[in-house]
Amino acid sequence: MSDSPQEKESKVEAVKRASRHLRGTIAETLASDATHFAKQDEPLLKFHGTYQQDDRDVRHERRKQKLEEAYQFMVRVAIPGGVLDADQYLALDALAERYGGGSLRATTRQGFQFHGILKKNLKATIKGINDALLTTIAACGDVERNVMACPAPLPDAAHETLRRVSREIAVALRPSTRAYHEIWLNGEKHLTSEPSADEEPFYGETYLPRKFKTGVGLADDNCVDIYSYDVGHVLLLDGSRVRGFNVLVGGGMGMTHGKADTFAQIAQPLGFVGPEHAVEATRVIAAIFRDHGNRADRRHARLKYLIAEWGMERFREEFRKRASFPLEPWVEIPRPGFHNHLGRHEQGGGKLFYGIYIDNGRIRDFDHARIKTALREIVSRHKPGLRVTAEQNILLTDLSETQIADIESILHANGMKTAGELPLARLDSMACPALPTCGLAMADSERVMPGVMSQFEEALAELGLEGEPITIRMTGCPNGCARPYSADIGLVGRRPGLYHVYVGGSLSGDRLSDLYAADVEMDGIVPLVRPLLQSWAKRRSAGEGLGDFYQRLLQRRDIRTTLTGGEEPTMETLRPLL
Ligand code: SF4
Repeated sequence: MSDSPQEKESKVEAVKRASRHLRGTIAETLASDATHFAKQDEPLLKFHGTYQQDDRDVRHERRKQKLEEAYQFMVRVAIPGGVLDADQYLALDALAERYGGGSLRATTRQGFQFHGILKKNLKATIKGINDALLTTIAACGDVERNVMACPAPLPDAAHETLRRVSREIAVALRPSTRAYHEIWLNGEKHLTSEPSADEEPFYGETYLPRKFKTGVGLADDNCVDIYSYDVGHVLLLDGSRVRGFNVLVGGGMGMTHGKADTFAQIAQPLGFVGPEHAVEATRVIAAIFRDHGNRADRRHARLKYLIAEWGMERFREEFRKRASFPLEPWVEIPRPGFHNHLGRHEQGGGKLFYGIYIDNGRIRDFDHARIKTALREIVSRHKPGLRVTAEQNILLTDLSETQIADIESILHANGMKTAGELPLARLDSMACPALPTCGLAMADSERVMPGVMSQFEEALAELGLEGEPITIRMTGCPNGCARPYSADIGLVGRRPGLYHVYVGGSLSGDRLSDLYAADVEMDGIVPLVRPLLQSWAKRRSAGEGLGDFYQRLLQRRDIRTTLTGGEEPTMETLRPLL
C-alpha cells in the first residue's frame, strides 16, 4: 500500500480475495437458467474478459414495468499488438453473426469486442474465441490488459522487436489461474476448493489494485498513444540496430467529473533500459503497483496516483531496488510523429499492406455501408494477415497490387470509402461505444459522433482546413476510453446531449488538453470551436496542428488552465486573442 494511513480495503478487494483465484460462483451461474450473474461476480467476470451490462435504451421502461434489466454481455478479445490471421478474423465474424447481433467492434486498444451477448450464449462465445486460438482472459480486470504495439507489418528490426516484446509482456503478465480453463473451456476442476499459493505466483489472491496498461511504440511514430498508459516503452534505434527502450510510467486517461483529486495524466520518463529488459521492467513496475497501489479507493487505484504521491525519484529508487539490471538515464528524443497507417503502403519483400478506415471501429452492416460483409468478403477471398490499429481501424497485410485493386472494388461495392476518399479529420477521429451498452456512459458517443464529425468536416472545408491533420475524439463519460484528453479536440459526455469540450492536445499524444468550455450542447460544439478554427486557418505556421496553435496562443498571454483546475474556462481568456 501507499504511505497513506492504512484505509479499509474496497469491496472489490474482498471479492477478489474470496474468489479462489477468480472462480467465485461464475461456473454455477453459468450452468443455471439465470439471465445474469450475482453482483459479487461482476468484478470477477471482467478478468475473464466480459462485462455484465444491460440495454440502457430500455432500462427505464423495463423498470417502470417492473421487469428486470435486459441483461447482456460485452466480450473482449485481447490481441497483443492487434495481430491476427484471416481464419481468426473469420471465426470472430461468424461468432458476431451468431451471438453478437451481427456486430463486432475494433477497440481503441487493438482488440475486438462483441456487444449484446446473452448469458445463455456467453460460454459458447468465449469458447469459440478460444477455438480460434485467441483469448479473452485479462482483456479486462485488475491485471495487465491487452499489450499494444505499432501494427505496421514492417519486417525491420524495430517493428519485429516491438511485436515480439508486446507478445512477451502479455505472456509474462497473463494470470495463471486455472479458473478460466475450468469455467469456459471445460477444463478439469481444481481438486481442492482452496486456492493454492502457486496458482497465481505473481498476482496473488488480489491481483493488481486496478487495471494496468502497457504499450510499445517507436520514437518517430506514436500511433499507439504511448503516453496514455501505465507503462510505455519507446523503442530507440542505433542505425538499424535496436538500442533499447525509453520507459514511460504513470499515464492514464480516466478521471471523474467534479472530483478534482482525480485527473488524466501523460506518462512521465522513468529511464532507459536495454533491449533485453523491457519485459522485466514491465513486471517490476506492475509489482510496485501491486504492492503499493491504492486498494481502498478504486478511483485512486492507478499507477499515476502512486507516482503523484511518491514523486518520480522515489518511484525510480524502488524500481532500482527491485530490478536485476541497471536503469539508465532517459535518452532525450524529439517529439514523436504519428502515422495512421491507412491506405496502401510498401511492406517489404515485394508485398504491400493496406489500411481500411472503420467508422469508430464498428464492424456491422449499415444501410449506407455494409462494413461487415465487405470485410468478410475481402478476408475470405484474399486471406490476408490482419492488424487492429489503436484508432480502431484494420490493416490487411501481405498483399499484391492486384489484390488491393480487388479490395478497393469490394469496399466500393459495399458502400465504403477508401482512406484517400475520406476527410483527414475523419480518419483520425475516435469515439467510445458509450450508450446503449456501457454501464458508465453519461451521454452518447459512437452513435452521435458521425453527425458531429460531419459538422466539423463542413466547417474545416469552409475554412480551407480539409488537408490539415487533426484529431477529434469523443467519449460518453470521463473515463476516457477513446483518449480524448490528448487529442486536438476532446468531447467528454456529461449528461445526455451535453459535453465538456477540451482543446490543446495533438496527434503526438504527448500533452494533455485544457478544458475549453463546460457543458456544451451537442449542436453548439462546432459553433463554439469555430472561432478557434478560423484563427488557426489564418494564423497557423507551416505544419502547426490545432492543439499546437492553441498552446502558442496561450503562451503569448502566459495563460494556463489545467484539466482539474477551477480556473475560468480557457475559451473566455482566449477569445480576445482569436
Ligand atoms: Fe463507457 Fe466511459 Fe469508456 Fe465510453 S469512456 S466506453 S462511456 S467507460
